[in-house]
Amino acid sequence: MTSFRVYKLNYRMKMYFKTPSIVGILYCFFLLSCAKEEIKSDLLIENGIVYNGITEDPSIVSIAIKNDKIIFIGDKNSVQINSKKTIDASGFIISPGFIDPHTHADRDLKDAETSHNKPFLFQGVTTVIVGNDGDSFYPTKTYRELYEEQGIGTNVVQLIGHHEILEKVIGNSDVDPTPEQLSKMQDLMQEEMDAGAFGMSTGLYYAPGSYTSTEEVIALAKVVAENDGIYDTHLRDESSNTIGLISAINEAIKIGRDAKLPIHISHIKCLGVDVWKQSDSIIKIIENAQKQGIQVTANQYPYDASATSLNAAVAPRWAESGGKDSLLYRIALPKLKERILKETLANINRRGGPDKLLIVKCDDNRFLGKTLLEIAALLNTSPEEAVYTVLKTGYVRVASFNMNPYDIENFMNQDWVVTGSDGNTGHPRKYGTFPRKYHKYVKEKQVLSLGEFIKKSTSKTAEIFKIPHRGVLKEDYYADIIIFDPEKFRDIANYNDAFQLSEGLIYSIINGKISVENGKFTGDLNGKVLNKKE
Ligand SMILES: [Zn+2]
Repeated sequence: MTSFRVYKLNYRMKMYFKTPSIVGILYCFFLLSCAKEEIKSDLLIENGIVYNGITEDPSIVSIAIKNDKIIFIGDKNSVQINSKKTIDASGFIISPGFIDPHTHADRDLKDAETSHNKPFLFQGVTTVIVGNDGDSFYPTKTYRELYEEQGIGTNVVQLIGHHEILEKVIGNSDVDPTPEQLSKMQDLMQEEMDAGAFGMSTGLYYAPGSYTSTEEVIALAKVVAENDGIYDTHLRDESSNTIGLISAINEAIKIGRDAKLPIHISHIKCLGVDVWKQSDSIIKIIENAQKQGIQVTANQYPYDASATSLNAAVAPRWAESGGKDSLLYRIALPKLKERILKETLANINRRGGPDKLLIVKCDDNRFLGKTLLEIAALLNTSPEEAVYTVLKTGYVRVASFNMNPYDIENFMNQDWVVTGSDGNTGHPRKYGTFPRKYHKYVKEKQVLSLGEFIKKSTSKTAEIFKIPHRGVLKEDYYADIIIFDPEKFRDIANYNDAFQLSEGLIYSIINGKISVENGKFTGDLNGKVLNKKE
């Protein structure tokens, strides 16, 4: 008995002394679980309506940034955030920065006066893709170094222009390359991919790309495929000029199939009355190709006018062999003049007639801002003859009103069609594409939801061009973030004044640094040259 009592007493005493320590341990666990993780950030954005670029519905979450990355996104009450600076985004939309897959912004980026890239920056664009339509600044490495040295306002992704490769090896005339020349072009393509380009672009509508056979393009695209790159194309025909729109779509798909790489159709459209409403057939063709495993996507700008040089718009391509000087030489030859004028008139009519062609860039002020019909009256000649008088004044660009709203909205609705400006001088799309799509097609016409618009201007584009860690608001991703006012975000540029910045962007943060603050450019050049090989 005694020993039993002693045992019980010992047991109780042990339990007595043990009990508080178990409680203590549990209490410590409790305290630890309540202690919030401390996050030290450079910038905290809170209270805004956040679209993360993936899910189409928004959420109210806070975003903390340190250096160039997002380090936290979520409920700020679940952690302890100590931030050097806080932005109150109440009532505003927060989105990943827009990625523009088709720009001619390299013309601005290379110049210290315009490398801020403000026309794109104020649309909410934080990354531009350059080197489209077969035209790039060559070589890639030289321009990468230039951009890095002088600083750029947005990130940039470089593509290799097919024309540059052609011109280095066979010039700009209508000749077939020898096997040696083709192999030399493949070597150049490899060098350019080694320099960090993300893929190649063609402009098969334009000379000298138009002189290239499909098989030659496939041979070059195979080099790009070996480097995990993309093929971006301005189709051989967007209308009924040569092989026709549908055949041109099929050609692009064949290039993707045979060279085994993703293809991206730039500024998809049905250009001119001859091909209006072909969007339904094109969508079916592309969806079929996708089912066969070929990655086919496209970009589109939200305007019914296209823009290009006057000669590219209406001159016969054969007459341009050798360049624009050769074209002006040929039109002066009586034996060729009649044929050239006849084909020029057909091209004018294909685009809807001379009243649908507006001169938006021209050194001669008599012609700037006038339609080809008005110029013909001014010169007392036919529209087709007037073309060559205007071309003699230098480089001339034209806005060509040639699209049908049915096709524009039909393409816009496809989940493989992303927003792309094709921004270049003289057309308002360079200053207005993204805000216009938001204002006109999301808010007014409700062709697509805000979440869809954002997704197809951010994460989808990053996915297509294989740009890692951008286009999504996510921890460990680069902090390319925009904040805009849903009431005021809109385009201002129009055909009469194509050089007006868009309105309603409150903040732009690029690589974690503020480029636009309270609607004003900070003057900081926060962009980076992205490198496929890094
Ligand atoms: Zn183009």
